[in-house]
Amino acid sequence: MDERDDLAEIRRAVRALCEEFPGEYWRAKDRERAYPGEFVDALTRAGFLAALIPEEFGGSGLKLDAAAVIMEEIQASGCNGASAHAQMYIMNTLLRYGSAAQKAEFLPSIASGELRLQAFGVSEPTSGTDTLSLKTRAVRDGKDYVINGQKIWTSRAEHSDLMLLLARTTPREEAVKRTEGLSIFLVDMRSAVGNGLTIKPIRTLMNHSTTEMFFDDLRIPASTLIGEEGQGFRYILSGMNAERILIAAECVGDAKWFIDKATRYAKEREVFNRPIGQNQGIQFPIARCYAQMRAAELMVHHAAAAYDAGGNPGAEANMAKLLASEASWAAADMCVQTFGGFGFAEEYDVERKFREARLYTVAPISTNLILSYLAEHVLGLPRSY
Ligand SMILES: Cc1cc2nc3c(=O)[nH]c(=O)nc-3n(C[C@H](O)[C@H](O)[C@H](O)COP(=O)(O)OP(=O)(O)OC[C@H]3O[C@@H](n4cnc5c(N)ncnc54)[C@H](O)[C@@H]3O)c2cc1C
Repeated sequence: MDERDDLAEIRRAVRALCEEFPGEYWRAKDRERAYPGEFVDALTRAGFLAALIPEEFGGSGLKLDAAAVIMEEIQASGCNGASAHAQMYIMNTLLRYGSAAQKAEFLPSIASGELRLQAFGVSEPTSGTDTLSLKTRAVRDGKDYVINGQKIWTSRAEHSDLMLLLARTTPREEAVKRTEGLSIFLVDMRSAVGNGLTIKPIRTLMNHSTTEMFFDDLRIPASTLIGEEGQGFRYILSGMNAERILIAAECVGDAKWFIDKATRYAKEREVFNRPIGQNQGIQFPIARCYAQMRAAELMVHHAAAAYDAGGNPGAEANMAKLLASEASWAAADMCVQTFGGFGFAEEYDVERKFREARLYTVAPISTNLILSYLAEHVLGLPRSY
């Protein structure tokens, strides 16, 4: 099926930009565990990270389907969109639930690249996947909220000017409903760091700029509250559907990169006087990954269309994430196998992309939790936790 002209054009433009950032660039960043600031700046200058920001605020006013194409193409080009994806997926929470004053204050500077909105503080060391058990408190004190607690895995916190933070404003036992009592804030990191917020980097399997954050009486203005106090969980669930669709698009891009890389190598590499791709033992895993990727791609398109129509397609967004993360991980494993020993050598980028692709069956939501969601909310099976 042919792609819409506008989306095909975006794809071509993203690919042209990504060509400026070849494997050597990513390998050097990976080796040093350095943030790819030049890449993020180039994406910003080209307007891609402002894709979802309405035109009246200086963005392109595009829909999630276009944002998904941008993220997919970054991954399919061999780059690492994890350095910049949060600005896309956090954006929907701000657009759907932020006040007119908040949008007017922040969106133009985010669109121009003056401010980076790249950090999303949800996960905590003790609550794990059970978001409703999070302990970080935000207590109202006059015109401020005072934040105390700890977050973990807050990626890009050191490279972001703004952070979307989820904190508890009503103690769990006092909340009217189980899902109430959490609130979202747009925290200005520039004034917070050193004034109650401490950030510590965590070194991980791949280059991901993730961190641990400690809040010790951090004061933030009450005007940073997004939407209504206590409704934050509902807001982030809606934002998380956008996040899942975009991450799924990235996984489809990764799968395409692995499939393309493996196919080309299988045609070129000769062993026993013939290309290894002549053996069905090499062909079939590539073909299977291709079919798996295409199925995931359809679900991503379906979920993005439902989101763009104004819905909150929880089931579709979760299924897109599940299918795409499994397709990309299967393709990563297949690619290493196709490359044999060379799959382990840095210079082919396969081992780097393999490490990067591993994340997405765990974060931002793990496979088990998606299966639980489908079992309970779609199939009507008893709640398991
Ligand atoms: C590199 C990296 C970057 C990240 N970036 C961010 C970020 O920017 N912001 C942020 O807020 N978070 C971030 N995360 C956190 C990520 O969202 C979580 O790691 C993920 O949601 C899983 O939670 P957990 O690690 O606490 O696992 P746990 O909740 O401890 O779960 C461990 C395992 O047990 C399984 N499990 C738990 N409960 C059940 C159950 N009831 N049934 C079946 N299986 C279950 C899980 O599926 C998982 O496999 C990041 C994580 C990583 C590793």
